[in-house]
Amino acid sequence: MAKHQKRAQKPRKPMIPVPKTELEKEFEVQINFLRKSITEFDAGDYSEFRRLASTLRVLLHRTKMCVPAVDHIGLDDNDYISYATPLNERNLLTEHSLAMMQMSRNGTVFLPALDQTPTTPRRLSLDEWKEEPVLRDDKREVFNRWELVLIVANKLGSHIDHEVDEKYHRLVNENSIGWMQEGPKGESPVLDLEKVYIRHIAWEALISLEAKWIKILGNRGCTCESGKKARYCCMKS
Ligand SMILES: [Zn+2]
Repeated sequence: MAKHQKRAQKPRKPMIPVPKTELEKEFEVQINFLRKSITEFDAGDYSEFRRLASTLRVLLHRTKMCVPAVDHIGLDDNDYISYATPLNERNLLTEHSLAMMQMSRNGTVFLPALDQTPTTPRRLSLDEWKEEPVLRDDKREVFNRWELVLIVANKLGSHIDHEVDEKYHRLVNENSIGWMQEGPKGESPVLDLEKVYIRHIAWEALISLEAKWIKILGNRGCTCESGKKARYCCMKS
């Protein structure tokens, strides 16, 4: 009994609120991490896909215990841009509209589709964007964006896990999307779809967040202290 009382009375560690300006600076740091990792990824360092997933989680992951950076700075949940082609239920093949294939001297590779998808981009709410199915494998199992981001972020971004999601394992190790290429040593699967997907998803998030953030900054008084809103002043150029 006494023990219980003692635990109940244990004082909470003293906490103080972080000023809004600090939260905004931190948001900009995270946005910059996205930009930097995208640059590194495009220069050939595909291991950056882990960091991209971790940064996406910091920016956008919302649970009871976890406030995403976008909430700290008061961004709304609208206008997350999707370049995905909606999965076609009647299609019996695998689908992966966020990545395209390219033949190169070194074989066939996946590339992030970015704005090269045949679909007109759509604006979704954050939850719709996270939960939109964007990939279907040979067992007709689907991934949505956020599932893929969290598997990578939780599995590889913060610690090394001893278990792996079965569907993800098949995607990475068993070529569940099914594309093969002919090489000097015979047939081999086309690799790295999961990494290229994270790269594309990070880009969609980045352009969505940049647009929203610029809108907020534009409505503030200009930093040159002209007294005008920034978007009618120095931001115009
Ligand atoms: Zn100005």
